[in-house]
Amino acid sequence: MENQAFQTEVRQLLDIVIHAFYSDREVFVRELVSNASDALEKLRLKQLTESAIYQPERELRLTITTDEENHTLTIADAGIGMTRDEVVEYLGTIAHSGTKKFLELMQETKGGTQDLIGQFGVGFYSVFMAADEVEVTTRSWDPEAAPVRWVSDGKEGYSLGEAPADTPRGTCIHIKLKEDAAEFSQENRVRYIVGKYSNFIGFPIDFNGEHLNTVQAIWMKNKKDVSPEEYEGFYKFISHTEAAPLSYMHFSAEAPIVLNSVLFVPEENPESMGFGRCEPNVALYCHKVLIDSKPENLLPEWLRFLSGVVDSEDLPLNISREMLQDNSLLRKISSIITKRFIKHLEELAKSHPETYEKFWKQFSRFIKEGIVTSWEHKEELGKLLRFESTFTEEGKLTSFADYISRMKENQKDVYVLFGESRAQLEHSPYLDALKARGFEVAFFTDGGDQFVIDSLMRVQEKEIKPISRANLDLPPLETQTDLPGLDEGRAKSLTDWVMEAFQGRFGKVTTGERVSSAPAIALQSAADISPDVKAYLKAMGQAVPEAHPEIEFNPHHPLVQKLADLQVQDADTAKLLAGQIIDTALLRAGMLDDPSRLADQTQQLLEKLLQA
Ligand code: ADP
Ligand code: MG
Repeated sequence: MENQAFQTEVRQLLDIVIHAFYSDREVFVRELVSNASDALEKLRLKQLTESAIYQPERELRLTITTDEENHTLTIADAGIGMTRDEVVEYLGTIAHSGTKKFLELMQETKGGTQDLIGQFGVGFYSVFMAADEVEVTTRSWDPEAAPVRWVSDGKEGYSLGEAPADTPRGTCIHIKLKEDAAEFSQENRVRYIVGKYSNFIGFPIDFNGEHLNTVQAIWMKNKKDVSPEEYEGFYKFISHTEAAPLSYMHFSAEAPIVLNSVLFVPEENPESMGFGRCEPNVALYCHKVLIDSKPENLLPEWLRFLSGVVDSEDLPLNISREMLQDNSLLRKISSIITKRFIKHLEELAKSHPETYEKFWKQFSRFIKEGIVTSWEHKEELGKLLRFESTFTEEGKLTSFADYISRMKENQKDVYVLFGESRAQLEHSPYLDALKARGFEVAFFTDGGDQFVIDSLMRVQEKEIKPISRANLDLPPLETQTDLPGLDEGRAKSLTDWVMEAFQGRFGKVTTGERVSSAPAIALQSAADISPDVKAYLKAMGQAVPEAHPEIEFNPHHPLVQKLADLQVQDADTAKLLAGQIIDTALLRAGMLDDPSRLADQTQQLLEKLLQA
């Protein structure tokens, strides 16, 4: 036997695992059983593509043995096994991607989140929560590879050597339990733990010489025959978690493709917990044979928060990873499942609005990402959007469907407004014209929402219009204001003069009814890019085209009337005042490029005021 040290990260991880005071340490059984099951799945697939396999007749099964007298537990499988190099790589470095993230998070939080061990499962190394010493004997499927023996106490390193020549194919994990972990050598205790997960293992389990479970794949069963507990247990098994799923969907189809699928939504958004971008966890099976546990392109990116299984008999069994990359059948499967899942969410919103609201809080950004990135589904995804509006109470959400049901008879379009927060948006001068007509305005306050709405464009055949746009095409007001205003001649002379005085800065200068609470409003011309896109271009270091907003004066505002007089009497002061009114409007619209100009003008105006 030769001694080797663990990779530094493994040592750090083991240090945490060994010293963790963790009440749920039975999860290590789940991890080992899951590895054994993976190894058996891999062998089953190997058998389809390789002709030379060591001990081809050996039955694909798991064997679990407890020895209460000697405080040991043994978990063995007849699976794919490991070569010497594989043992060094898999049991000496960090292979499990969740483990890597777990370790990073532990280091960031200085070990303050120990219950994450149970929540995420740290793979093989979790065995050291309960073990004094672990012995792994393994033999690869490859007839050329020699059997290997690996022994470790989970501290500094491990010793590696040859295993006896009669070692059968597969892997045997023999655990000498810590004194305070002797419970894991008790037959009843282990039977109970294994029982929680064993239903989901597609292989027979031999438990102390007794056959344990019947083989079943719950996604192949009829929905009616699966209990909520079974779904929950299956989810916990495949997601290596102790938390229940927020929602699940069981879907079967015969045509055009034979499909069976169970998909789970986790309770929390894994990306909001500091774990970074999550990996998809939906496995691909062909008639209960695992083809790939984490296929890259099975479902669209924005569904990466799901875990579950997709099984299709129509897939060729010997499909290679390369073929998975670009396969029209797979694309069809993806499209069908995605559609069905969106429908599931729609139904959830109707039948369990509170659950849907929870879902929305956790996963809204994925749905929005879907709208931006998946043309095919964006219309359906649009129905899943939730937002506050001028018609909702603070904190209460509504949907476009509800919005549309409330639309006034003379309202053609759906109106939206973007900003930082509801509080900010409620004071927006853009609302004036909509409020005057009794039209509802939807509030969008997440970064990137403008992209989302730009991509969506319409809902239920209705155009969505940001109310910061110039060409809103609103119906005339039912009751005209009887406030004094500027007559046509004075209005034209004012707007012509402003256009002239601020040469080239504005696309258009007009008077109109878009604003009543301020002297003027800055509108986004059709030719200009939106503030969101502008911010994005800036952040990317790209050139931002100059904007030419449109300015609309409120002819009923006393300041505007004063300005019209001043323009004739004192053009210099008039220009200062006009500049001030316009820049304030631009500021409120988030379109002011140069705030220092506003500051200068304020100062000059104040000086004038004091001189007078
Ligand atoms: P994960 O299962 O997520 O890859 P683990 O830490 O549980 O992470 O296991 C690390 C690796 O060790 C596995 O990917 C696998 O290659 C190997 N391994 C563990 N247990 C077995 C086993 N029983 N048979 C074959 N290989 C195994
Ligand atoms: Mg594992």
